[in-house]
Amino acid sequence: MYSQLFSKVLVANRGEIAVRVQQTLKTLGIATVAVYSDPDSAAPHVSMADEAWALGGKTAEETYLDMEKLIAIARRCGAEAIHAGYGFLSENPRFARACGEAGITFIGPTPENMEALGDKIRSKALAQRAGAPVVPNSPPCTRIDTAAEEFVAIWGFPLLVKAAAGGGGRGMRLVSELEELAPALESAAREAQSAFGDGRVFLERYIPRPRHVEIQVLADGLGNTVHLLERECSIQRRYQKIIEETPSPALTPDLRRRMGEAAVAVARSARYVNAGTVEFLLDSENDHFFFLEMNTRLQVEHPITEEVLGLDLVEWQVRIAAGEELTIRQDDIHARGHAVECRIYAEDPYHNFAPSVGTLVKWLPPSGPGLRLDSGVTQGQEISTYYDPLLAKLIAWGPDRSSSLRRMELALSQFPVMGLVTNISYLRHVIHHPRFVEGAYDTGFLTEDSDTGRPQVSQEGLNLAWALAAWATQGVSSQGPAIHAGAAEAQNNPWRNAGKLRLP
Ligand code: ADP
Ligand code: ADP
Ligand code: MG
Repeated sequence: MYSQLFSKVLVANRGEIAVRVQQTLKTLGIATVAVYSDPDSAAPHVSMADEAWALGGKTAEETYLDMEKLIAIARRCGAEAIHAGYGFLSENPRFARACGEAGITFIGPTPENMEALGDKIRSKALAQRAGAPVVPNSPPCTRIDTAAEEFVAIWGFPLLVKAAAGGGGRGMRLVSELEELAPALESAAREAQSAFGDGRVFLERYIPRPRHVEIQVLADGLGNTVHLLERECSIQRRYQKIIEETPSPALTPDLRRRMGEAAVAVARSARYVNAGTVEFLLDSENDHFFFLEMNTRLQVEHPITEEVLGLDLVEWQVRIAAGEELTIRQDDIHARGHAVECRIYAEDPYHNFAPSVGTLVKWLPPSGPGLRLDSGVTQGQEISTYYDPLLAKLIAWGPDRSSSLRRMELALSQFPVMGLVTNISYLRHVIHHPRFVEGAYDTGFLTEDSDTGRPQVSQEGLNLAWALAAWATQGVSSQGPAIHAGAAEAQNNPWRNAGKLRLP
């Protein structure tokens, strides 16, 4: 039935995205190959695969970032293509090129696309040429040179120091006065060098309290490019998204159309192929929007787009990589209802979002109408700090915004997790905060009022209380304690009634 597509694909990633990609491959009748590090040998992405190969090692460098090992395995097992998910090697032009040289199709954009768009300075220049408004920036500078002085003279403070190769919020510093600038340049460059192997940093004008609104694009190798509407991603901690929704409460139909056209213009001018995301900052005071960067990969929050459009983005990535034509036309794209995603992290929001480790003693995800869970873990699994602390993504769909938010709130309240600290009750707190419910929020939402209103009881304390309650009653491995744990949470949760409380 799918003879034109690949017969076997290697997924060079781990966690929820490796599971997610395999689900689509299996639906398409394609055999899946998983790879895994030592700590991941019992992970779901391994057990679900048709074939699984050990990478040998623990750190990302020894495993999911080791291009040679990955390509050698793909050759040995006869995989015709590699999907790299997001993070790791997904945006690495050297890897995409090495795949091509080994006769393996890289499911994603071309190495040239990645080179043109992976660098923030270069991609902003490209976006500007394509007619998209950009936030003003300086050339690269590692100290306060003439270009930096000129930039400061024009734009003043506050400003952002950013890494040209940046991603995941790393290598970014907010600078409010001149004295902070030199140390910020130095520390951002150091962080960027160690995270990306590229220490180039630059200055960017700081937009106060913007919204982050991004546009999904899809392009085939035959010149067809469409956009798949927007995702609102302003709920962030440390410049990283934790809740996303679509449609954005901030867009009018006219603004949506203009942002969509700008995104398509950027993709076209880069001769972009496959799925990508054009990120914008939106000044909601005046509806001005600015190109921020383009991510040349599948985005973490892609499921909300899938839910409102009823399509499978990974399937399109595979079809486009196999040379198929994009049959979706811009005029056919209309969102149905509303979708929201919460990222479930093994981290403690009440202790500076520090990652948490341990055994997932209890992991009982909710289910129900309009719910989707993209998960990379199972009960009993050991969670380490070797990799990103994202455990799963919970997605709720509803015919309108208030119903999808209600479904999400209910689902979060029915999600008992024990053994390590998660951000679940924090997400609940945000989801039913009056300003979130109104849709009147921006990227400053989670950081404001940081010295007031911080809940006095950490979730760590609550988790311990639930775990003790569960153990005391029926033992941790039965289904029973989950009910007690849920009930205990409802009674003990001191910030359950979020209307009266401020966010931390
Ligand atoms: P998204 O942009 O898809 O919404 P994030 O910004 O949270 O998501 O990043 C997605 C994942 O990719 C995270 O695991 C993050 O650590 C990783 N990541 C993002 N950019 C890079 C990069 N340039 N190099 C390595 N990892 C990256
Ligand atoms: P990354 O590559 O780490 O994802 P981005 O450039 O996409 O970096 O920015 C991540 C987040 O940082 C944005 O969503 C926004 O919240 C904030 N940010 C980035 N640039 C600016 C800016 N010029 N003004 C205000 N906030 C910004
Ligand atoms: Mg970004």
